[in-house]
Amino acid sequence: MAKLTPMMEQYMKIKAEYKDAFLFYRLGDFYEMFYEDAIDAARELEITLTKRGGGKSEAEIPMCGIPHHSAENYIKTLIEKGYKVAICEQVEDPKTAKGVVKREVVQLITPGTVMESNMLKEGENNYIASLSHFKDGSYVVAYNDLSTGENNLALITGGWDSVLHELFNQPIREIVISSNLPEEMQLQLKERLNITLSYQNEVAFSAEYRNLSENLNDERLMKAFSRLLNYIQDTQKRSLDHLQPAEVIRLKDHLSLDMYSKRNLELTETIMKKGKHGSLLWVLDKTATAMGSRMLKKWLERPLLDQNQIEARLEAVEGFYRGFMERDTLREVLKSVYDLERLAGRIAFGNVNARDLIQLKVSLQKIPELKNTLEQFQVKELSKLAEQLVYPEYLVTLLDDSLVENPPISIKEGSIIKNGYNETLDTYRDASKNGKTWIAELEKKEREETNIKSLKVGYNRVFGYYIEVTKANIHLLPEGRYERKQTLTNAERYITPELKEKEVLILEAEEKSVDLEYTLFIEIREKIKTHIPELQQLAEVVSKIDVLQGFATVSEENNYQRPTFEGTKLMIKNGRHPVVEQVMKEGLFVPNDITLDEDKRILLITGPNMSGKSTYMRQLALTAIMGQIGCFVPCEEAELIIFDQIFTRIGAADDLVSGQSTFMVEMLEAKHAIANATDRSLILLDEIGRGTSTYDGMALAQAIVEYIHNNIHAKTLFSTHYHELTALENSLSNLKNIHVRAEENEGTVVFLHQIKEGAADQSYGIHVAKLAELPDALIERATVILEELESDDKPTPRTEKIEDGQLSFFVEEKLPAKKEKQSAKQHIVVTELKDLNLFELTPLEAMNELYRLQKMV
Ligand code: ADP
Repeated sequence: MAKLTPMMEQYMKIKAEYKDAFLFYRLGDFYEMFYEDAIDAARELEITLTKRGGGKSEAEIPMCGIPHHSAENYIKTLIEKGYKVAICEQVEDPKTAKGVVKREVVQLITPGTVMESNMLKEGENNYIASLSHFKDGSYVVAYNDLSTGENNLALITGGWDSVLHELFNQPIREIVISSNLPEEMQLQLKERLNITLSYQNEVAFSAEYRNLSENLNDERLMKAFSRLLNYIQDTQKRSLDHLQPAEVIRLKDHLSLDMYSKRNLELTETIMKKGKHGSLLWVLDKTATAMGSRMLKKWLERPLLDQNQIEARLEAVEGFYRGFMERDTLREVLKSVYDLERLAGRIAFGNVNARDLIQLKVSLQKIPELKNTLEQFQVKELSKLAEQLVYPEYLVTLLDDSLVENPPISIKEGSIIKNGYNETLDTYRDASKNGKTWIAELEKKEREETNIKSLKVGYNRVFGYYIEVTKANIHLLPEGRYERKQTLTNAERYITPELKEKEVLILEAEEKSVDLEYTLFIEIREKIKTHIPELQQLAEVVSKIDVLQGFATVSEENNYQRPTFEGTKLMIKNGRHPVVEQVMKEGLFVPNDITLDEDKRILLITGPNMSGKSTYMRQLALTAIMGQIGCFVPCEEAELIIFDQIFTRIGAADDLVSGQSTFMVEMLEAKHAIANATDRSLILLDEIGRGTSTYDGMALAQAIVEYIHNNIHAKTLFSTHYHELTALENSLSNLKNIHVRAEENEGTVVFLHQIKEGAADQSYGIHVAKLAELPDALIERATVILEELESDDKPTPRTEKIEDGQLSFFVEEKLPAKKEKQSAKQHIVVTELKDLNLFELTPLEAMNELYRLQKMV
């Protein structure tokens, strides 16, 4: 290979340290990229790929560049696509440099560590996480949000699957792992969960982290946390003073939702569009601040198990619900509170300007009003929240005394600090002001002395202050005193020693005052920095108030009711699906009841397709979750159970992690429920067994129901199109049949969406096909086949009791799949035989036909 120029050698050396990032290599006014980086960037950023000219040997090196002043948008695009960008700057003046200008990477921007508000979503956290695995088979996930300073850790003991369930749907942009993590797992994190991978093998705990880790008493937690902090320290080269002490998330204290349920129930995003619109979060989010919106999302991901905590939230919501007048006032106040949490983060990071601090002041000034409004509800839970709002008066005083109300964006050009805040600053300002007054009076004085009425005093950047006299009047000027500085077409500009003297004074005073303002601003910022924990605590309480008032608001708007939690009985009167009812015209959604208790643990739901079975099932899960996050629920009356886990197998099976067949995924989802559910869990199984042949599927479905009934005792809704399964009601004492009512009207089916006791009496599949406008001939043919099949011997499920603990998937050898095929063939033979016109056949043709038909059976 030809020898590289010294500059390219420098490039190669730096690039070697940042292999997994785009290296933005500063060259004059551009950031240049070379080799693979250039090819990839040209593709991703849609910019022109060129070749490096210059030295002959380098003529072939691919290259592309972007102007440094417009780099921000390009960086944003790359970060959004999950890439990392290393910013490599010239760190010495090219004019004085000997040889190649020294360059260094000054910042590594990664998806998990961005702080710029244009790269962050307002209502969503932006996590960088770390994952550590241990010999005992456990894992720890550590979460950090650099923009808010939050640190959380979770210990996971249920194996790799549980890790995926935990990480799924969390707003994690980047995950720091050990390079020893098995390849297959790395791939799943990257490809399936779409998270950017980063590596950090150093897990030694630095003494610096001590005050962040006081809550951690497990070596595994410490290691995972160190991995994360070490990575952030190594790459970020910035102040991390705002990081909060790590909180341990005890997974056992929360309702656990596996990834299938998070996805199927569309809690925070929809399956199809992957957006918030149409999700439960979309309905419930009536928060007035971005902080509240972020907290709501967290609550939804981790509903509560502790009844006291749930009741405390409900109590607060009820308080807000009743005092709707005060709630309006409260919402208005909240709307003028800015994102304190992220402001605190940026204060620590050092990228706030005076305008941000004014926002901080305005927000803080709202705290007394917020407290006051909360007290007006006269509800204990709300007064408790009011007490937790500590008004940092000293900060408000500091900001109010020091900063002007409308400061400019720049912190380096003055006009930020109020008069009277700093004496020295005031003297500089006086000096400059006096000088300016003197100059303003100079014009009048000079005019009088010279008798030139058009004489003007002016200022420009190049020459400073000058006296301007038109050419016609020059002869009136006295000799000697005026020194000519600039000649224009019609006029001459002069200076005098007196004017110069004042000018120096003014400019000096101005320069000094701008410098001093900057110093003072930094001082103020540093003072506020020492109060970041108070600001974060305040942000937390404000967020909580916001989420709770949001619950009251949505409950009032949609007529939700406060649920009770009595024990093991669940009863919902006229329940509704919170999302489906929103997207329907008012009054069209048909409410339904549900009861589940110790004697009635499993409901077997039959009814035609499209009648509302899965809506009914999802409705129950969403209602349970809403209750357990402390929100009112969509119904007339609800007595709920606190579920420990919810499992679902609903809707189109979609392979989330492993490239399996649809049926396999269906079975995996069912297995996951069966392996983990307890008698306090809720299981929703929709049309299990659909993905395989009739007998196979029916056998599996029956075995699963029996197993749950006899061994798990979880509350279960089970929908099926196998009408034969309704016979199970006779053998399983805690299973009850229900069905969705539909009516037939002149050959078409009318869905009433009403749940009734007992089994559905027929399948309406063909009617649905008719609704879908399949050809008439086809529909007629299907009707004939159905009639014939129905007159056949129907398969009936075996319904004798199975011993506890025995999982028998394949119930009956007498039900071979072959039989099904056979009956279909026989059916064809019969029809063809019927259709034969014997009078038109020769004896030989008849023989051949008979032979052919016989071979078919
Ligand atoms: P199934 O699971 O029985 O095939 P779905 O639950 O998917 O049926 O419901 C089909 C459609 O029927 C839904 O998209 C919804 O528009 C409507 N639907 C379901 N339940 C109700 C209801 N209770 N009231 C009004 N419309 C409903």
